[in-house]
Amino acid sequence: MTVKTPEQVQKMRVAGLVVAEALERMAEAVRPGATTADLDRIARTVLEHHGATSSFLGYGDPGFPAVICASVGAAVVHGIPDDRPLEEGELCSIDFGAIVDGWHGDAAVTVPVGTCSPEVLELNRVTEQSLWAALRTARPGGRLSDIGAAVEQVVRPHGYGLLDDYTGHGIGRSMHEPPHVPNLAPRGPGHGMALDVGICLAIEPMATLGTGEVDVLEDEWTVVTADGQQASHWEHTVAITPDGPWVLTAADGGASRLSSPVSSQL
Ligand code: MG
Repeated sequence: MTVKTPEQVQKMRVAGLVVAEALERMAEAVRPGATTADLDRIARTVLEHHGATSSFLGYGDPGFPAVICASVGAAVVHGIPDDRPLEEGELCSIDFGAIVDGWHGDAAVTVPVGTCSPEVLELNRVTEQSLWAALRTARPGGRLSDIGAAVEQVVRPHGYGLLDDYTGHGIGRSMHEPPHVPNLAPRGPGHGMALDVGICLAIEPMATLGTGEVDVLEDEWTVVTADGQQASHWEHTVAITPDGPWVLTAADGGASRLSSPVSSQL
């Protein structure tokens, strides 16, 4: 696990703002009949405009073939963009990572396609809320399990499924750095690694309307719910500052969604 200097966190903020802009533009383009390949093209345009490169393209084995993960309907994460028109009532998760000057930013939003059922909208609202609850725990003096405990505290009362094997992660010069950042805290808050100033994490809760059981499709990437129920996934990259969390992939640094003041000049 690496601790970043204030100067390095500033560089990650630059990447984070590229991610924020791209996700905002892609979210605006989600509608019935649009395709996730359309969204991928929007993201490539934003990367090019900023002289940034993709965290995802070519990642892993088999190399990921796109600059976004687009996970629609029963897909939870790691979906590959394609030309299937989006359908009314689906949730579309868009996950995007950018590299600027060697530093990564990584975030995801889940956008309703047209009109969704109240049940689906509630799943999406609660999952986003769990992300912000978790982000608020990213402060000096905390422990790693505070994050998963915050997610569980928001999600569990609704009976949604949470995934055992898919976590957030440290982030910096690589998209995935130690530690794993679980969305579960079997022993509750107050356990695990100490959260110190300069630690940067990608926190990414995912929740499903059914159980947390998932399968991976034959493309070796797309994670889908085993029961076919819809899922929601939200993510931000956050830096721990002396004043608390600085949400690097939120345009306003998270100020509007965090109850505590956020440093804008670490
Ligand atoms: Mg991530």
